[in-house]
Amino acid sequence: MIALYPGSFDPVTLGHKDIIQRASNIFDKVIVAVAVNYKKQTLFTNEERVKLLQESVREFKNVEISQFEGLSVEYARKCKARVLIRGLRAISDFEAELSMASINKELDNELDTVFLMTAKQYAFLSSSAVKEIARMEGSLDSMVDPHVAKALKERFAKG
Ligand code: ADP
Repeated sequence: MIALYPGSFDPVTLGHKDIIQRASNIFDKVIVAVAVNYKKQTLFTNEERVKLLQESVREFKNVEISQFEGLSVEYARKCKARVLIRGLRAISDFEAELSMASINKELDNELDTVFLMTAKQYAFLSSSAVKEIARMEGSLDSMVDPHVAKALKERFAKG
């Protein structure tokens, strides 16, 4: 069975990677797709987010990285994915994720959203926290892969 894991991944964190790894153990193929959303300001371009993801998941053989525009359900149909993967952290994720999953179910009854609980060490890890820490020049070692830390450091380098 094919699963689609859509998200902003701006940038990919170890929390995302943990979800990807666990999904790759459950499903035959996992497509991780960067959502192109012109309304959302991102630090990294679509191509950069794809590249950072590609490097992070190189070790997982049944994982593919792509990007898409528009509705996740439409893209899932195109990829022949029967499942959408989402990660759940604190209770605060629950409300938004529940409403999104309900809307997606309404749009495509054949598609189900599967939630994987965050690993406890990543429960408070988010791309926005990582960007904030990078801006303040803090250590990102336990939060992102080294190539992501490097990309963040370069993005916030002074001068
Ligand atoms: P979006 O803009 O779609 O929320 P994100 O890149 O922020 O994109 O997140 C994509 C998915 O990964 C979401 O389901 C989010 O809840 C999940 N996620 C993000 N960070 C973590 C984490 N630390 N642990 C588990 N899941 C996470």
